[in-house]
Amino acid sequence: MSARRRLAARFRVAGIESAAVDARWLVEAALKDLPEDLHVLDRATLDRLDDLAARRLAGEPVWRIVGEREFWGLPFKLSPETLEPRPDSETIVEAALEALDPRRDEPLAILDLGTGTGCLLIALLSEYGGARGIGIDMSGQACATARGNAERNGVAARASFRKGNWTEGLDEAFDLVVSNPPYIPAGDIAGLSREVREHDPRLALDGGQDGLDAYRALARGLPGVLSPRGIVVLEIGAGQADDVIAIMNLAGFVHQGGRHDLGGHLRALIFTP
Ligand code: GLN
Repeated sequence: MSARRRLAARFRVAGIESAAVDARWLVEAALKDLPEDLHVLDRATLDRLDDLAARRLAGEPVWRIVGEREFWGLPFKLSPETLEPRPDSETIVEAALEALDPRRDEPLAILDLGTGTGCLLIALLSEYGGARGIGIDMSGQACATARGNAERNGVAARASFRKGNWTEGLDEAFDLVVSNPPYIPAGDIAGLSREVREHDPRLALDGGQDGLDAYRALARGLPGVLSPRGIVVLEIGAGQADDVIAIMNLAGFVHQGGRHDLGGHLRALIFTP
């Protein structure tokens, strides 16, 4: 308790907004292998805690230090080539579950483009016991991380992960396609917080000059992989709804509505062929 309070105070002085929560997670990480009734921290544990604190003070996000982050109530391991799953992205899962609810007992086929940790696909497979899915990522390391996460969350038998470029080389039709693509305009990346800028992989953030490159690629590829009754749910960044809807309309998709995240931002857009 006192280690936690002292650490929180140090974080606060350093201007870390989530000081108390970060301190709690790091103390928990440092204590992980110790018996629960331990009251006095030994030297080795204090040193371990000091190392973790130094990393946080140097701008590393707490979840990177801990090595995993929760999404949809499930644990997800992170690696250098995966984006940290964000609570905002749970909006994509909610939107997909709502849109597909009438078909929830069917053996649905799900595609997750730019799967990263696999969080979107794995959350959906955890809800739909009869569904199976494929996660694609440009990073082989991300695919390996996602595979591990699928195993850890008990859905590995229904999930496969493949290194690839969006829909290239896929020749089946999916009932649901989800994607949280990179959508930050390249010029805005330098202005993001140090935690994001220096620790989330650039490939997972950079949406090209206007932030919309990935949506153009998706709009080109999606018609070839969506079943006639299929739906697409895309995550978008702030202010991107009109542009993304226009890009998808041009490719023949019909906008079916959207869903706001807990911060009140329109976060998920739903489309049908
Ligand atoms: N699909 C993953 C997520 O939602 C990765 C997204 C990305 O790397 N842009 O976290």
